[in-house]
Amino acid sequence: MAETRKRSGSCFCGAVQFELTGEPAAMGYCHCESCRHWSAGPVNGFVLWKPDSLRITRGAENIGTYTKNPSSNRKWCKVCGGHIFSEHPGLGLTDVYAAVIPDLEFKPGVHVNYQETVLRMKDGLPKLKDFPKEFGGSGQVLTE
Ligand SMILES: [Zn+2]
Ligand SMILES: [Zn+2]
Repeated sequence: MAETRKRSGSCFCGAVQFELTGEPAAMGYCHCESCRHWSAGPVNGFVLWKPDSLRITRGAENIGTYTKNPSSNRKWCKVCGGHIFSEHPGLGLTDVYAAVIPDLEFKPGVHVNYQETVLRMKDGLPKLKDFPKEFGGSGQVLTE
């Protein structure tokens, strides 16, 4: 039997450490205003996991939470301010950002919320106007 893959990661300073079991449900880029504003970057590399894939192994007491909108509980390290993950209770998935998992091979499959983009990325991947239909979006594809 194949062993279930485990990966580890941490916040920017290492006070918060975590382990991820199994494989992600989806990977891609989100261009929405909320992701850009929260991350202070032009785009967010998301990696969605089943919530029980994520286990905090150190420093859980250092995790802060901010919920501006009930669709996302955004989590960061109270020591360094580094962002770690966002829970999406409505989707039943947790986004553990690609940038905080060093041994993950980031293989994006889709761009979401491309109607809000400030950074066009001509990589040939599908560019969804908002979200896929199965996540309550229009499923509409835009040109790059
Ligand atoms: Zn930290
Ligand atoms: Zn977003």
